[in-house]
Amino acid sequence: MTRLWTRRRVLEAGAGLGAAGLASTFLRACRPRRRDRPNLVLVTLDTTRADHLGCYGYARPTSPVLDALAAEATVYTRAIAPGTWTLPSHASLFTGKCPTSHGARYDVDGPLVLSSAIPNRPGLNAYRVRGLAPTEATLAGILGNAGYRTGGFAGGPWLTSVFGLGTGFERWDDDGVGSVNGRIAADLNARALPWLEKVEEPFFLFLNYFDAHSPLMPPAELAARFLSAPVQPGVPPTPEQTLALYDAEIRYADQHLGEVVRMLERRNLYDRTWIIVTSDHGELFGEHGLKGHGTVPYQGVVHVPFVSKPPLGDGGLGQRADPVQLQDVMALVLERLGLPRPTGIQGRVPPHLDRPLMVESYVLAALYPHGDWLAVFDGDWKYLWNSAGASELYDLATDPGEERNVIAADPERAATMEQRLRAYLTALPQPPGGGAARAVDDATRDALKGLGYID
Ligand SMILES: [Zn+2]
Repeated sequence: MTRLWTRRRVLEAGAGLGAAGLASTFLRACRPRRRDRPNLVLVTLDTTRADHLGCYGYARPTSPVLDALAAEATVYTRAIAPGTWTLPSHASLFTGKCPTSHGARYDVDGPLVLSSAIPNRPGLNAYRVRGLAPTEATLAGILGNAGYRTGGFAGGPWLTSVFGLGTGFERWDDDGVGSVNGRIAADLNARALPWLEKVEEPFFLFLNYFDAHSPLMPPAELAARFLSAPVQPGVPPTPEQTLALYDAEIRYADQHLGEVVRMLERRNLYDRTWIIVTSDHGELFGEHGLKGHGTVPYQGVVHVPFVSKPPLGDGGLGQRADPVQLQDVMALVLERLGLPRPTGIQGRVPPHLDRPLMVESYVLAALYPHGDWLAVFDGDWKYLWNSAGASELYDLATDPGEERNVIAADPERAATMEQRLRAYLTALPQPPGGGAARAVDDATRDALKGLGYID
């Protein structure tokens, strides 16, 4: 176990010496050199709530691999997804921008439909979006220009090439993502591990494990480990069984993350590799009468894991309560590598976010008739703005489950938070193409035509 040497062996050896001075001299002598260009492995556990992971206090054994990583990592306890579903959140992760600024989101006038990626399913034409504009500066593109080998492996259908999230990657693999169910972690690893086995350093590997996304169909032996009673054929699972299946799917993805860690160890790359594990959004299981994600940014949807196992020598382990969002990953990585940030991004290195902590959720009325939602945080206060007028205000310190909407009791606070959010959103740079939705669509459409994706 190469990775255990660094801290445990050093600390044990230091303790054995008995004298603090001797131990600190020893530790100084052993202090590993900070690497100039560490490898980067960035993982999204799609649809995975932070509070269903052991390293975030969950009691069931969903995540032994991630928990072991977390023991050697910075664990951000207050990570908030910028969007409520796959496409906008991943676009923020890759561009350092909020959804308003990158523009990859549901859009009734958007040029792309989900059936662009999933053939022979005309019903999916209702899911109309704008993809990520191909002119966007992406983390993969920047790292590629800096000499990194870059490979991305997609699990979910919104990560197929047509929607633009592969922009900037030297290799983008969505092979076999032929249905809305995506592809399972075993199939993803079957493509990613051979790449990782041979790739030269430094490299950037992105992995999207889609298993925790519905439909929940874990392998039978894993399901049995979490279910107290088996699901009967032809009978819908109970709410309790649904949660067990969800947990089993998280465990399944975690096992496959373990294969990646073992490959890094086998190649003796673990210590030279920065591993960030996060999620694009969570999932609701009946809270507030809702299931799934993509609509109201309640905590079950937006509180995501964010575990950052640094390369050896970087330090900074332990829990951090300052907020972080997916758009901050680009800023974190570029600062660490000494590379300039693109202009116009909102991502920052925590704890200095200098922007509201917020979530944007733009919906399609045909699929969800209750309006768009925005969430903004101020300390423990959370304001949910709704375009249909059903705005809500919560004090997460006393009401973490968002069960007592106190907007009627404190309308001034809600108004102040809304004004701040509006001022911020209004001033944001617009997506490439100048801001009008049509202009972006045309640019995207032309690029897609050039790539042969559409006629
Ligand atoms: Zn997702």
